[in-house]
Amino acid sequence: MSTVMLGTEVAKAMKERLTARVEELKEKGIHPCLAIVRVGARPDDLSYERGAKKRMELTGIACQVTELPEDISQEEFEAAFRKINDDPAVHGILLFRPLPRHLDEEPVKDIICPWKDVDCMSDANMAKVFAGDESGFAPCTPEAVMEMLDYYGVPLAGKRVTIVGRSMVVGKPLAMLMLKKNATVTVCHTKTADLPGTCREAEVLVAAAGKARMITGDMVGENAVVADVGINVDPDGNLCGDVDYEAVEKKASFVSPVPKGVGSVTTSVLAAHVVRAAEYLNGLK
Ligand code: NDP
Repeated sequence: MSTVMLGTEVAKAMKERLTARVEELKEKGIHPCLAIVRVGARPDDLSYERGAKKRMELTGIACQVTELPEDISQEEFEAAFRKINDDPAVHGILLFRPLPRHLDEEPVKDIICPWKDVDCMSDANMAKVFAGDESGFAPCTPEAVMEMLDYYGVPLAGKRVTIVGRSMVVGKPLAMLMLKKNATVTVCHTKTADLPGTCREAEVLVAAAGKARMITGDMVGENAVVADVGINVDPDGNLCGDVDYEAVEKKASFVSPVPKGVGSVTTSVLAAHVVRAAEYLNGLK
């Protein structure tokens, strides 16, 4: 029987720390503010937006949403984004991606002020993640995994960590955050020759492939720590992770569920980034 790593508990602890920092900023007349920029109204974006707004509200952070029409031109989109970026009242910006196909997101990566880039869109922030420089902003999801492992006291130094997935949103930056903590990291993908064997050797296994319940019980070593980043809908319409939870929890020492797992921590990391951005932009860090 394993310990369940509940993202909701991690988020609660983070909220305590963050609200204190938000209060300190407000006493100095600084009101941390996140700007969400959404083009169109994709259900996934709307769902994340609801969660983010709620988290900001709970933490005392202001949140403004700009909805742009789905058929907006590149020129109008960049102008709207630039205006939000230049607003001194805005400390962090979250742009929902992918953008509609006719829009190019590359120019926005150069427009966004790196200190407002709280979800690591810009090359400047991504380069810092890869350089092990913690002064920038890592993408929220891999950092949420790190927060969860830290909260549950999982040691990483010298440990064999295997990550299934190599996207720039989750797998690759997570590998860098793990390296920074002195883990020995293996990154798996669709061309990995022996995925079950490689996963079984891991002391800490992170699933971020986006394949429902692909990590089966036989792929997990005894007493391994298993974090599940995947968010999938199974054939019955239920939300599930990449991990076969029922089978894996019998072997793992710690396991995170879906829902109420890593996904519950992501918006807290976003809130933490907005607070840090407000501190930086006001010369407090
Ligand atoms: P991508 O589709 O961009 O990347 C998936 C990665 O997993 C790829 O590197 C792919 O390999 C690898 N992969 C896919 N199938 C297999 C397989 N059968 N065996 C081995 N490797 C495989 O997904 P994301 O990184 O964007 O997201 C991953 C998951 O995390 C999704 O379920 C997504 O919904 C979820 N997610 C959750 C968030 C949260 O807050 N909890 C936030 C962001 C994402 P290859 O490179 O070879 O194609």
